[in-house]
Amino acid sequence: MTIQEQYELLEKTIRSYNPAADFAHIRSAFEFADKAHEGQKRKSGEPYIIHPLAVAQIVAEELKLDSESIEAALLHDVIEDTPATHEEVAKLFSPTIADLVEGVSKLTRIQYATKEDEQMENLRKMLIAMSKDIRVILIKVADRLHNMRTMEYQSPAKQKQKSLETMEIYAPIAHRLGMQRMKWELEDLSLKYLDPVGYEEIVTSLGARQKDYDAFMQRTCRQVDDRLNDMGIQHVVYGRVKHPYSIYRKMFNQNKNMDEIFDLFAFRVVVESVGDCYNVLGVVHDIYKPVLGRFKDYIGTPKPNGYQSLHTTVVGSDGIPFEVQIRTQEMHEIAEYGVAAHWKYKQNGQGAGTEGKYEWVRRLLENQEGADAEDYIHSLKVDMFADEVFVFTPNGDVQNLPAGATPIDFAYAIHSAVGNRMVGARVNGRIVTLDHVLKNGDIVEIMTSKNAKGPSRDWMKIAKSSEARSKIRQWFKKERRDENIVNGRASFEAELKHCGILMREVTDPEVLPTLLKKVSYTSLKEMYAAIGYGGFSAQKAVSRMQGELQRAAKQRQAEQQALEAAAAEAKQGREEPHVPAPKQVKSEQGIIVEGLDNCLVKFSKCCTPVPGDDIVGFITRGYGVSVHRADCPNASLEKRTAPDQAGRWIHVSWGTDTNESYPTILEAVCKDRVNLLLDISAALSSTNTFVLGVNTRSTEDGFAICRLEIRIKDGAQLRSLMNKLNQISGVLKVTRPAG
Ligand code: MN
Repeated sequence: MTIQEQYELLEKTIRSYNPAADFAHIRSAFEFADKAHEGQKRKSGEPYIIHPLAVAQIVAEELKLDSESIEAALLHDVIEDTPATHEEVAKLFSPTIADLVEGVSKLTRIQYATKEDEQMENLRKMLIAMSKDIRVILIKVADRLHNMRTMEYQSPAKQKQKSLETMEIYAPIAHRLGMQRMKWELEDLSLKYLDPVGYEEIVTSLGARQKDYDAFMQRTCRQVDDRLNDMGIQHVVYGRVKHPYSIYRKMFNQNKNMDEIFDLFAFRVVVESVGDCYNVLGVVHDIYKPVLGRFKDYIGTPKPNGYQSLHTTVVGSDGIPFEVQIRTQEMHEIAEYGVAAHWKYKQNGQGAGTEGKYEWVRRLLENQEGADAEDYIHSLKVDMFADEVFVFTPNGDVQNLPAGATPIDFAYAIHSAVGNRMVGARVNGRIVTLDHVLKNGDIVEIMTSKNAKGPSRDWMKIAKSSEARSKIRQWFKKERRDENIVNGRASFEAELKHCGILMREVTDPEVLPTLLKKVSYTSLKEMYAAIGYGGFSAQKAVSRMQGELQRAAKQRQAEQQALEAAAAEAKQGREEPHVPAPKQVKSEQGIIVEGLDNCLVKFSKCCTPVPGDDIVGFITRGYGVSVHRADCPNASLEKRTAPDQAGRWIHVSWGTDTNESYPTILEAVCKDRVNLLLDISAALSSTNTFVLGVNTRSTEDGFAICRLEIRIKDGAQLRSLMNKLNQISGVLKVTRPAG
């Protein structure tokens, strides 16, 4: 057949089911493709145009698709294999046709490798998802069918690879779309290359018995024919031997040889109405003996892919079992051509455009009942409701991600270590930003580095999958504890400030344990860490603590009022507030700190207490206990009860094991005169006082203030010194400065 003859056959085929097709356009598509592929040869040595012509022939003959599909089939390789562009095709034909061609090319570009089942399912879903227009996948299946028909010219390696792909991807898709004839042919052609011996055995055996089989089938057909004619039921009946792959699978699964295969034959009766289907069933069961449990009513309960028929298995007169399928013409077309038949009905039917593009497919599918209906609907939903995106790793593995996913989602889907070391990403060879939205069929490559500083917190906002987000959170939890604590503390403090709460209200040792219980952390640090990595929020923390903090604040207020009341009473009655005797414990520098052993003690510079003085202690932030005289202005009752120092003032007392001496300061106000300092020195020396320094300054009105820095053993020694000083002529007043 010449190329011209082949083209004429195509037109003839189209005319047989669609006389109104746009033949002018179809011819110009053929001529454009012919020109574009000029000089290109197939592996068989034939001109390349043979292939698109054959694909268009399949699209017309097997699928009976519209003019646009025929044109797209003729043009399906021009964008991929010739200088022609999408723009050019869109301009010369139509944007829709250009999109169809582009869609088929995209599927062609996908590289497959043998994968586990799950990968295969993802690949099938991806192909459907990528075919935004269902006609793309129909044309692609036709393309694959022609390539399989002409596989003999390819290398053995390529034959195996393509056959495997066909068996695992395209035949299931054809099945899913209800195209049984194409599915069988794809399976048989694949088997031929995947198991040439097994395939040959079946074909040879079928060939050897062809005559017997034909005779049996003719006999049976005539029996059925006669009875139905007698009853006046309009019908077509024919028999066939099941296709080789179906026999092969049965032999393999049931571990049987060909003679043991139960039903090698299938007869089909096509009638005009559903009522006739059941009438024919009655007739068949009357002529032959039905095999129990083999009757299936797929009219009452269609298969998920839309298939409808009555199935029964009976045993013929010579003891040969066979299957009979009974269906109407419409059911038959849908069984043979599947979704394509629906397409055809839709196209010729009324109301085109009143429904969404795939509304009819959706309705068809959702009306189906059956165990795997849901699975089937889901697989097509990918196309229609696009909630998933399928992308490739550089090795050809498919990753199934939620729609809108980014390289971050991809990296974490591979492994958390890949995500954590990611420094960049390439999509289809081009460097992209990490918030780049991935599209079906993208090849995504993650660039990693051992020195990567890990995910950034922004990634959690960019990532679309909860898997990626939780892995990023996990990283922050583990890897950045110190940083988390700092960040967590900062947000916690900010939130406290926002709520008008002071940090020390939280750190108050009496309240803290209860607060920690409220937030379920063992320490503030733990809580900061959690806030830092995002496992807990500062807002939640503060809101859970607030009740307890308010209760504590109220209690503090009550205590303060009680203290003030006690102080007022003490003033009136000149009674010292009762201070319970401290527990006898080991002292530090002669000081016993109530309830605390071995704590750091220092003497305040403002009042320089010496043994015998009434003293109090103040717990400083990080410098131990500072000891003041009870009458020091810095330890006044007002200070001691101020809210910012509450809880820090504690009882201290002098122990029995005081130091040799303590530094302290005396100030003497004197009428300045000659030899004043000499007399003061004499007093110091007569009381054995160790002098650290003497500093005298004169005032303008003839007075001198003498400041003595000394070391003294205790209050008794100090008092005797002060007496001596007071007796010196010109000394007006000796004091111990404080504050
Ligand atoms: Mn092709």
